[in-house]
Amino acid sequence: MQQLIQQLKRIDRKGYKAYNDIRGTFTFSSFRLHMDHIQADPYASPSRARVVVQHRQLHIDPDLYEQGHRNVAFTDYVARAVGKEIRKQNAQKSLFIDRPGQEILERTAVVCDRDKIDIRLSIHLPARGRTIMGEEARKLLTEKLPAIIEQAVFNMNMDELRRHVALSDDQETLRAYVDDREALAFIADGSILPRASGVENRPLDPDSAIPFTSPETMAVTVSLPHYGELRGMLIPRGVHVIVGGGYHGKSTLLEALENGIYNHIDGDGRAYIVTTSSACKIRAEDGRGVTDVNISPFIGDLPNNKSTERFQTENASGSTSQATNIIESLEAGSRLLLIDEDTSATNFMIRDYRMQQLVAPDKEPITPFIDRVRDLYEEEGVSTIIVVGGTGDYFDVADTVTMMDEYRPFDVTDRAQAIVKIDESQRITHKAAPFTTKSRRIPEPKGFDARRGKKEKVDGWGKNTILYGRETIDLSAVEQCIDPSQTRAIARAVDFLAKKYVNGERSLGELLDIYERETAAGLDDLSPFKGKHPGDLARPRRFEIAAAINRLRTLSTRQ
Ligand code: ADP
Ligand code: MG
Repeated sequence: MQQLIQQLKRIDRKGYKAYNDIRGTFTFSSFRLHMDHIQADPYASPSRARVVVQHRQLHIDPDLYEQGHRNVAFTDYVARAVGKEIRKQNAQKSLFIDRPGQEILERTAVVCDRDKIDIRLSIHLPARGRTIMGEEARKLLTEKLPAIIEQAVFNMNMDELRRHVALSDDQETLRAYVDDREALAFIADGSILPRASGVENRPLDPDSAIPFTSPETMAVTVSLPHYGELRGMLIPRGVHVIVGGGYHGKSTLLEALENGIYNHIDGDGRAYIVTTSSACKIRAEDGRGVTDVNISPFIGDLPNNKSTERFQTENASGSTSQATNIIESLEAGSRLLLIDEDTSATNFMIRDYRMQQLVAPDKEPITPFIDRVRDLYEEEGVSTIIVVGGTGDYFDVADTVTMMDEYRPFDVTDRAQAIVKIDESQRITHKAAPFTTKSRRIPEPKGFDARRGKKEKVDGWGKNTILYGRETIDLSAVEQCIDPSQTRAIARAVDFLAKKYVNGERSLGELLDIYERETAAGLDDLSPFKGKHPGDLARPRRFEIAAAINRLRTLSTRQ
């Protein structure tokens, strides 16, 4: 630390470039500080540093971080603690950590192995204009930073940490429970599904929110290692239709299921909601580009003889985009589709009897989803949970029908079946070619060009945008990508695969397998900084990586 103080003294009031002299490693009394990258000027993105604490100085029970899911919970906890302390000590203008939100994701902000905890920070090195403020920098790096680490790491709230880790045990158990029963999801009684607002991920305040209660017919009780007995609704495999009046909580339920692929913190209201990990939200996304996707299970001959076995467009319609989103999700390995009428193309969902009378079958290329949803389940083993308030024709194809009534779920399967018997639907089931999802697209290297001018550019920008060379990938309809750090990681993963594995031989599915295998031990290797401070990545699923590749407009594939 003395060495750092002296160097800062020496470069005080010099031009900003002189900050380069403090690149390197400094030993403090309880940790080491690695200044990995120094920003070139005060307006560039901040410098990158790591604080490394040895476990032998800290003495935390290894049981709290050694196991896989506990390691995620532990590092998540440390990142939160450091983030909180940065705010508390009012250093948020110069020190940054990639602070988690409502979800508990595997992140690179904090990495913990047997020997050490590696905390990745970004730092704005202080300047007046372009002149180094050495004394300010000294205070920041040798007083403020150690004080923050002292509080957040060495004075960690052990009870809170243990609860955080215990919750992750319970969540892990719950996921295993759902998987063992080959079920789709579990929603605990007492869960708070609605959010504070449309742009706010925190729960609606307890006074206005109606807690979830499972209908008796779908209720199970699970025994969790820490929580104990927990009752909730288990959704089995099959086709599930959610009905109910407008504004009665249908979409809110579906959104909770979409997010159930992630673990949530205590107090979020969704801590005990889990959805099977391959669940994909499917929606219409008109305007998206499509490369070589076989949508013929849903869409037959188009006007002007456009092929739908190898469908290609710069500008998909509502129905063709929704069909594409399904086929691509299946190609990536999804076993559960989540669909909301609010974000669907009506003509993709249903064509009723009267319309069938008016428009001859040979003039309508679409086989609506209602005529495919059972094939999907029975032939492909892919389940669906679908919100439809608008048409009772879906009763014909449902295994269960759940009605949301003033935010409470009721099992109305029997009533729906009775209605089907009395009032048979006249609509004619449209039979298309057998469902085949065996398409195996092979991305070609020429589709991936990271160059922009003389340099390469690959990065995430907010939650919804990836810059890839001269291209922009729009992820705004990829709703299960929920964190900008995931988007950055997706960008890195696409670049990683493109540079190392896309060779015109491997299928998209194989590339996604490689991504999972190569990052099994962590996401650090995706970083361009070669192990030095890749501190702002969070793990994306294979489905979101596939979604990005599929939306790259320069993509070119062969089959
Ligand atoms: P639907 O899809 O049935 O039209 P939404 O799910 O969009 O209805 O919900 C309508 C409104 O009710 C939203 O503002 C939502 O936040 C709120 N809401 C949903 N579930 C609950 C609940 N359990 N308690 C209180 N408010 C809720
Ligand atoms: Mg709705």
